[in-house]
Order: sequence, then C-alpha cells, then structure tokens
Amino acid sequence: MNNCIFCKIIAGEIPSAKIYEDDLVYAFLDISPINKGHVLVIPKEHHESSSTIPEATAGRMFRVGSRIGIALRRKMDYDAFNLHLADGAAAGQVVMHAHLHVVPRGVEDGFRWNWRQLKYADGELAATAETLSKRLAEDLEKGE
Ligand code: 5GP
Ligand code: ZN
Repeated sequence: MNNCIFCKIIAGEIPSAKIYEDDLVYAFLDISPINKGHVLVIPKEHHESSSTIPEATAGRMFRVGSRIGIALRRKMDYDAFNLHLADGAAAGQVVMHAHLHVVPRGVEDGFRWNWRQLKYADGELAATAETLSKRLAEDLEKGE
C-alpha cells in the first residue's frame, strides 16, 4: 500500500489536477485521457478491488462520478459519458487502487468501446443465472 501511486496522490506526495474531494473520495484528471476531461474517482482508503470498498464509499464514488459526468456535459460540451471500472489485471486494471473512470464522450469522438456479443447455447443462459445467483446469495449471507 505504501508504494501505491494513488495513495501518494491523495497524500499530496505526487501532484494531481484535483476536481473534487470529500471525506470519502478524491477525484482528479487522468494523466492520459481517452478524451480531455477524463476523470478518476478513487476511495481515500486503499482498496485494490471494488468488492471491499464499504457501501457508503462505493455509493459516493458512483454519485460523484455521475455528477462529474453531468458537469462534463454541461460545461465542456460533451454529449455523454461512460463510467468504467476495471477490477483485476485481466480486466485491464493497471493501478491496483480501485478507481472509477468518468470518460466524457462525444457523438463523433472517434473512440469505440469494443464490446463483443456472444450467444448462449440452449439452456446455458438459465444455468448460468442459477449458478451465479446461488453463489451471490451465499456470499452476501456470509457478508463477503
Ligand atoms: P486502469 O487501467 O488501472 O483502469 O487505469 C489507470 C489509469 O490511471 C490510466 O488511465 C492512467 O492514465 C492513469 N494514471 C496512471 N498513473 C497516473 C498518475 O500518476 N496520475 C494520473 N493523474 N493518472 C494516472
Ligand atoms: Zn492506494
């Protein structure tokens, strides 16, 4: 944790272009933006995964992130925004302090988020939903 670049940003040991700060979260400009005005919203407490962030902080991250998205629309002439969070290296997380990206978007900004769309085999969709919902219910019951 001591070597965490985002913890150092919160502590002021590494400079950042701050957009917003309160008791739970800190928001600043991404140094290599997808579009200019791209913001990162982070919990002040160090968490690698979004799954361990306390509910109040996670809620604040989402609220602040979406309000920043609206400010980008109203004041920087964007049309829309994406909220994005990569949880784990395989999902593209590079900085291991959880962070919510607020990516301002324009109708013709030239950026494509390349979602693919697979198809389920017969019965696979229902089986997947059953496995996943059971596991989630067990974990939530245990408080995980
Ligand atoms: P990830 O790929 O982990 O979801 O995103 C990490 C983001 O952090 C990247 O978009 C990257 O540009 C940004 N980033 C990495 N180091 C710094 C830094 O020192 N300062 C700022 N402002 N952004 C950073
Ligand atoms: Zn950290």
